Amino acid sequence: MSSNQSGQSLTRGYIGNIVAAAKTTAEGMAVTLAQYFRRPTTVQYPDRTDVPVSESLPERYRGFLEVDMDICTGCKACERDCPIDCIVIDLEKKEDVRGVVRFDIDMGKCMYCGICVEACPTDAQSVGDLEQTKCIRMTKEFEGATSDFPTLTFRFVRPGDFVPFFKPKKGEISSTKKRGEIARYVRKKAQEYNVVAVRWAYAHGGAGAQKGGAADAVKEEVLLKRAQELEPLVKEAGNDVKKVEDLLYSQALAQTDCEACGWPTCRAYADAMISGKDGEFFKCEPGGAEATRDMNLILQIRLGKPLADAAKATAKVVLEHHK
Ligand code: SF4
Ligand code: SF4
Ligand code: SF4
Repeated sequence: MSSNQSGQSLTRGYIGNIVAAAKTTAEGMAVTLAQYFRRPTTVQYPDRTDVPVSESLPERYRGFLEVDMDICTGCKACERDCPIDCIVIDLEKKEDVRGVVRFDIDMGKCMYCGICVEACPTDAQSVGDLEQTKCIRMTKEFEGATSDFPTLTFRFVRPGDFVPFFKPKKGEISSTKKRGEIARYVRKKAQEYNVVAVRWAYAHGGAGAQKGGAADAVKEEVLLKRAQELEPLVKEAGNDVKKVEDLLYSQALAQTDCEACGWPTCRAYADAMISGKDGEFFKCEPGGAEATRDMNLILQIRLGKPLADAAKATAKVVLEHHK
């Protein structure tokens, strides 16, 4: 091949490459331009979907947890069974009525295993759901993006509120609100007041701390004061077994009928303690150290022990069985 011919072929190759590049670019641009005239296959989230995404999810979707406090028995089964301590429940007694003063779930920590739901004994049916649910349940709510982690701690009892225990009838399926309503409400509230909530939690012994631990329950002055309160009630009940049962039920046990003590109801446990069928006076899990203290004080005072001795023996049992 002459040098002239080889120069022409090089020029053709060079121009051919430019043409090919221009053609490929034009083809790419044509594909891009065509998108302006086609119907979009994506939807702008979250405000242009036909229905809210949470409503299009399957019924068994595991989103945020919610609790209907109107049907919560305060049995603490969910708190006990959570393997990573996401749930904190505090109970209190006001004028002989027991109730929940705190029910927090840390959704930032939760691994959505559903064990708490399995543990809950309160069956319920949500409006619009095909399947039965529980007092604590998974919802289809999922939007938790935040730059402020405490806003993922959902509080089902407002600070300062007192929610009396719900008493379901045996075998009853309680009706409950539409699934997701409560989760949406508490998430909104968490975003509004969680800074205050976190401070409140720490003021009550730190987030995750149990109120009324053993050390608090057996402080000398607390024990003696409680023994003095219980002494006239024990004397009034005397040897009337029914009255002693009432006393244990109203003054010591948590009254949730959760069966954690191994007896089907709180009254059955009280009866077993009085009759000697159960000699373990520390098994009321929801009542914790305070319940152990009060049932031991009642039973010690019944035996006729001086208050100081009853308090001493009680402190020993509480510290042995509670942290
Ligand atoms: S879903 Fe699992 S991790 Fe979350 S609160 Fe319930 S038991 Fe705890
Ligand atoms: S009733 Fe259910 S939600 Fe309420 S404390 Fe018991 S297990 Fe938890
Ligand atoms: S006495 Fe038994 S049934 Fe009653 S609340 Fe305590 S653990 Fe549950």
